[in-house]
Amino acid sequence: MRFRGFPLILAFALAVSVAAPSEPSTVAPPLAAEAPGGSRAVTLDLDAGDVARKILHAKLVIPARPGPMTLYYPKWIPGEHGPTGPVTDVAGLKFSAGGKSIAWKRDDAEMFTFNCQVPAGATALEVSLDFLLPPASAEGFSSAASSTSELATISWNQVLLYPAGTPVRDIPFKASLTLPAGWKFGTALPVDSSTGGRTQFKAVSLEMLIDSPVIAGAHFKEVPIGPKLDAPHFVEMAAEGEEALEIPPATRAAYDRLVSEAWALFGAHHYRSYRFLLALSDGVAHFGLEHHESSDDRIPERGLLDAEERPTHATLLSHEFVHSWNGKYRRPADIVTPDYQVPMRTSLLWVYEGLTEYLGQVLAGRSGLWSAEESRDSLAMIVQWAGDHVGRTWRPLEDTGTSAQLLYNARRDWEAWRRSTDFYDESSLIWLDADTLIREKSGGTKSLDDFVLAFCGGKSGPPTVVPYSFDDVVQGMSRVMPYDWAGFFRERVESTSSKPPTAGVERSGWRLIYAETPTPLQKAYEARNKEVDLSASLGMVVGEDGTIKDVIPGRAAYRAGVGPDMKILAVNGRRWTGDSPDDMLRAAVAATKTSIKPLELILENGEYVRTCTVDYHSGAKYPRLERIPGTEDLLSVILKSRS
Ligand SMILES: [Zn+2]
Repeated sequence: MRFRGFPLILAFALAVSVAAPSEPSTVAPPLAAEAPGGSRAVTLDLDAGDVARKILHAKLVIPARPGPMTLYYPKWIPGEHGPTGPVTDVAGLKFSAGGKSIAWKRDDAEMFTFNCQVPAGATALEVSLDFLLPPASAEGFSSAASSTSELATISWNQVLLYPAGTPVRDIPFKASLTLPAGWKFGTALPVDSSTGGRTQFKAVSLEMLIDSPVIAGAHFKEVPIGPKLDAPHFVEMAAEGEEALEIPPATRAAYDRLVSEAWALFGAHHYRSYRFLLALSDGVAHFGLEHHESSDDRIPERGLLDAEERPTHATLLSHEFVHSWNGKYRRPADIVTPDYQVPMRTSLLWVYEGLTEYLGQVLAGRSGLWSAEESRDSLAMIVQWAGDHVGRTWRPLEDTGTSAQLLYNARRDWEAWRRSTDFYDESSLIWLDADTLIREKSGGTKSLDDFVLAFCGGKSGPPTVVPYSFDDVVQGMSRVMPYDWAGFFRERVESTSSKPPTAGVERSGWRLIYAETPTPLQKAYEARNKEVDLSASLGMVVGEDGTIKDVIPGRAAYRAGVGPDMKILAVNGRRWTGDSPDDMLRAAVAATKTSIKPLELILENGEYVRTCTVDYHSGAKYPRLERIPGTEDLLSVILKSRS
């Protein structure tokens, strides 16, 4: 998953025998479409005809036998790393059998569990429910805003109950979907038949159903991408209007190369076809969620057209694509659960998300989604950001993964001290460290690519899951290059430290410096997040209305008594108004280099107003990378196209 722009935390079949050199500790059985023994499928008929009013109507027929029966609403949603199933938005829940209503009772401790008594003679339980689609302002990944009057992304987990007691890969579901008249759709789910607005899908396991969302809309376009391979790739786009469906030629060419570069990196694939389900709308939440054969990708309506904003979304597709190999095919054993109620344990997210973040950035560079300069500018921001997150002195990186279910929803204030979902970007620095170490010690004959090929490649085929442990990662790395990888990772992941793991940046031939102007990429992230990022100078981030979003402990603003949620009323005596008060603030910071007067902020704190004098004299500072003379430019070697 991937969400929010910088600061960069931002945001699921059939058997494959794994011939990878890294023998997995266990190989999960295939993701079967039909349950063993030919048990009857649950039918799910979803009516999305009312989506413009933000309501979905679902009817299920679940095979049952007389006696007590327990049903679950999916709680732990794969890829969201938390118990995020939107059970609050279920309404109109009714059970019946043979036309007779049956009472249900929610478990009074487990809010996602429903119990009922199936009457004598009944062979099926009928369930009807509505799902109340959230408004545009709602946050929370796939439970967030997902529909407008023009488009919708349908997440099946939101509109179903399933019977307790059987692993979800063994429960067959046969789903149908009715869409508003004239809407088209894209999904990895195999279609059985289509008549009018109703589409009947083939029976698949519940695991595959939930792993296969549907994107649909009035303005829709399917764009084939990549070279002719034994599995086709598509971007399935739904937008608020026709104009947004036009992919600029350079971006289209980069999508083609993204497929080629991923195949060159992984050497095999674990899908029959791959579809990027790309929603372009300001009325939906913006994030990405990975699946085996598709990804749910949501960006602003003009996210492809606006040349300045486009780079801020450039790694979304590459990140989610990498997840098909790392996160879906290979997955930490603690995250592989029999159903959606068993808690997932997420301490290895520094591999699941961290390696994906690194490879997503690398593939963005190799495919041209990012220019070399944009790749470097992003890395400069990550180094700066990691240095600011002084919470590493109390909280090991691993704990940000373990507590991911808390941190995704944590507030922005005191983020540098609390830490956030740092297992994305800080881990990407650790994988750069490892990559450059292998390249340096092997004299350029080996690289992290060799580990990725062996660990995530395997043999091509339909979706399957191969779990791994910390030891499997260490052994896989050791096969590429003998080294104390256990010690390497434990030091960086499990211990506290005042220093971020930036050795790989220097080893790649580059170092962090500060420039007087932000890079275009930083400016674009600031515009997208509606903020001024003065982390490198004053040590604070300010929202466009003057509200302090965060201060970094120990830095100039912090020392002056500035805190989160205070609001800037004036800078050096001049009121925070006009077209661009943020420019006034930037100019005032720049002037500290020559002015003998300290920077003065008048701040509102609740009902009180105070003046803070900021003892800072170093002028404007924005992160950038510069070459270390006399060293090899390994970063450029890493970002070089391989296809
Ligand atoms: Zn991710």
